[in-house]
Amino acid sequence: RPSLSLPPIDQPLSTTEFVLSLLRKSSPPATAGKDIKAITYLVKASSGDSLTYGELLLKVRSLAVSLRERFPSLSSTNVAFILSPASLDVPVLYLALMSIGAVVSPANPIGSDSEVSHQVEVSKPVIAFATSQTVHKFRSSSFPLGIVLMDSPEFLSWLTRSDSSSVKPIQVRSHKRSLEDPVDYDRVGLFSLPLFHVFGFGMMIRAISLGEKLVLLERFELGAMLKAVEKYKVTGMPVSPPLIVTLFKSELTYKYDLRSLRSLGCGGAPLGKDVAERFKQKFPDVEIIQGYGLTESSGPVSSTFGPEETVRYGSVGRISENIEAKIVDPSTGEALPPGKNGELWLRGPVIMKGYVENEKATSETLDQEEGWLKTGDLCYIDSEGFLYIVDRLKELIKYKAYQVPPVELEQILQSNPDVVDAAVVPFPDEDAGEIPMAFIVRKPGSNLNEAQVIDFVAKQVAPYKKVRRVAFINAIPKNPAGKILRRELTKLAVDGNASK
Ligand code: AMP
Repeated sequence: RPSLSLPPIDQPLSTTEFVLSLLRKSSPPATAGKDIKAITYLVKASSGDSLTYGELLLKVRSLAVSLRERFPSLSSTNVAFILSPASLDVPVLYLALMSIGAVVSPANPIGSDSEVSHQVEVSKPVIAFATSQTVHKFRSSSFPLGIVLMDSPEFLSWLTRSDSSSVKPIQVRSHKRSLEDPVDYDRVGLFSLPLFHVFGFGMMIRAISLGEKLVLLERFELGAMLKAVEKYKVTGMPVSPPLIVTLFKSELTYKYDLRSLRSLGCGGAPLGKDVAERFKQKFPDVEIIQGYGLTESSGPVSSTFGPEETVRYGSVGRISENIEAKIVDPSTGEALPPGKNGELWLRGPVIMKGYVENEKATSETLDQEEGWLKTGDLCYIDSEGFLYIVDRLKELIKYKAYQVPPVELEQILQSNPDVVDAAVVPFPDEDAGEIPMAFIVRKPGSNLNEAQVIDFVAKQVAPYKKVRRVAFINAIPKNPAGKILRRELTKLAVDGNASK
């Protein structure tokens, strides 16, 4: 296995310096005679437009110099907001901003105006980067340094300056190396993940550390994905469990040559053993690597590794290096032995420092004394150290592995004049994993119907957050403290006792 010569483990670097140093320091055998600068980093599946590693380095430097000149105050700890569909320029922008010490706050480009405003209020950016497609979601007065359009001639000229060879990185935060995978320039990853989510952000950076080629699929559509696998000889791709279901069910897979595929990285939601086994019957040569992680842990903290581990379908693998884990009785805080179900707590350098502007949520999630992150996931670890996710304790619905916070939808529903009370719960769904289901207590005399409820929410949220099922009920079950008994409601719906 070729190895990289890396900076010593305790040397602090800015994120960008760290990432790019992996590239620069690739030892010659690792490149197998190829010049790393000529290797493609990103290629757009739709147009074939691409960016080599050499171009990536030049553009990041060029943009960093330009940003520093144009916005001298945009330095350490200032937040830059990014609202852009995936493109070749997004990773360049992230890396350039981080290299001058700015903090990157990316948002979902299909988020509703109010979702975007909320993130702006919380993250307090001094500047925003958007495209002519997304800029209408902003109130321009929100940003002291203004809004930069990423498809404007000015921005494009910032990417290609000729005098950009020296940009001095400032050391923002400490990043320690943790690199398990070998360098492999034959890896081709299909990149269909959102770049604003921790999973996509991580994959973008990981690819650089591995010298991997990424094929950017801007809009997910099964046919386009399969075509890209065939055309670019994709070797691996990240998937969520619902996509694994689609892959073994669909006849479309027979139309394309998918023999290049070696592995799928699966995470975000639980993968059923039967689903994994049905997939393997159809694709016996494709490994399913399972991983588990959260936004709050900056991405994956466990994964299965190698052929023996990847067939343990129920498990999400062993905990990564650098991370400590324990299973805790959520009611007493007592640590539990192997095999016992409890809440998973994590500690280590990748754990978040807290939620911005939300002390309450921070103190509920991070244990103040010892720094443990309470994941809100019910898990057990077996005697060999394999982690199993059993259930979710926290109030989170995962629609196609996207986060849907039920409380947010409940607040919207409660603002409807015909609604007395509302609760939103996950309802199991084979294709999506879970769908948000609303239980509604109608105002006496109101004849609010299912379609009206669905429409009312849909107008106010990103499409993945839509309520997709509705039941009407006389009262929302709550515990004495007023907490909604969501499990009871899900059970009611699944058992078919909820009236439509
Ligand atoms: P996010 O912050 O959007 O990545 O969501 C994190 C949550 O997704 C975790 O706390 C889990 O509830 C769930 N999750 C992530 N990966 C898995 C997995 N492999 N199996 C089961 N649940 C998962």
